[in-house]
Amino acid sequence: MPRPLVALIHPQALQFNLTIARAARPQAKIWAIVKANAYGHGLEQGLRGFADAEGLSLVEWDAAVTLRELGWRKPIMMLEGLFEFSDLAIADQYRLQIVVHSDEQLAMLQSAHLSQPLDVHLKINTGMNRLGFAPDRAHQIYTSLRAIPSVGNIAFLTHFANAENAQSALPVETQLACFTQAIAGLKGEVSLSNSAATLIQRLITSDWIRPGVMLYGGSPGGGSAASFGLRPAMTLQSQITAVQNLQPGDVVGYGSTFKADKPMRIGIVACGYADGYPRHAPTGTPILVQGQQTRIVGRVSMDMLSVDLSALPDAGVGAEVILWGKGLPIDEVAAAAGTIGYELMCALTSRVRRQVQD
Ligand SMILES: *Cc1c(COP(=O)(O)O)cnc(C)c1O
Repeated sequence: MPRPLVALIHPQALQFNLTIARAARPQAKIWAIVKANAYGHGLEQGLRGFADAEGLSLVEWDAAVTLRELGWRKPIMMLEGLFEFSDLAIADQYRLQIVVHSDEQLAMLQSAHLSQPLDVHLKINTGMNRLGFAPDRAHQIYTSLRAIPSVGNIAFLTHFANAENAQSALPVETQLACFTQAIAGLKGEVSLSNSAATLIQRLITSDWIRPGVMLYGGSPGGGSAASFGLRPAMTLQSQITAVQNLQPGDVVGYGSTFKADKPMRIGIVACGYADGYPRHAPTGTPILVQGQQTRIVGRVSMDMLSVDLSALPDAGVGAEVILWGKGLPIDEVAAAAGTIGYELMCALTSRVRRQVQD
């Protein structure tokens, strides 16, 4: 008997959300981002859902090999490139394009002996100060790459830190101007724009875009997922497995952080932090029982959490619970727990069954 907890993955929503990205940037090719097990949705579902994308992109080398073994023949880009020299042999064998963001990676390429030239993406640090070469080194690095026999096409990319926030300390316009100046005079395709830039910064043009969270129906910020027309691609569903009747003064769960101030019914739900539900979610975090919104009460435990059934007299053991997804945006649950939808979808643990549902 499996626990009643299941992550329903909606392939039609994945496909649909890809069309939203396409409509936002009709001229651009799409690298659909499938890192972190397709943001928790499963690589295979990502591969099928994004069959119309021009390429898939991720950071994990083993997962990239899996994509090839599952039959993906179009381009794959490794967003963080080589972690060690031996990754080059995998890139060569499986035709994986790589980002080059550091001198260490450049040195690895310089000593590579590959069966055929590898396409690379030169990453410029335009102010986020995470990965990439300083803008004033772009031409020098390009020249170094061009001189390497194992290097084929050279493309360019940078990553926006604040595409959803016009008031930030590092506006998109600043990063874009820096990038444009850095690669002026160099020839090659450009990839820009995560989900937030794709949806909000419509005037930016590039050969490729790199949407991630929006494809899974999560908001990148700057508005709700629904306001962007996105559909949830994952519904985390479980059931009530026990009911408790509380008297005024009774307390609930570890730490006894919730105290009933009137007689009330609570339900115990098969889902906890060992499944990836955020332990920080406080009393009041929204949850659906039999399609009706209520709240969690008390602390989230490892395998269970508690919900207020006061307004749901008919909901007993076996009643359907939706933790996020259809009917309850993941971003609302995330906001209540002080995080973002991205983290919740990615943090879903391997013990949660994934099941395809249209
Ligand atoms: C994760 C990632 C993306 C996608 O970001 P979203 O905000 O999920 O759309 C794009 N580009 C790079 C380099 C990334 O690491």
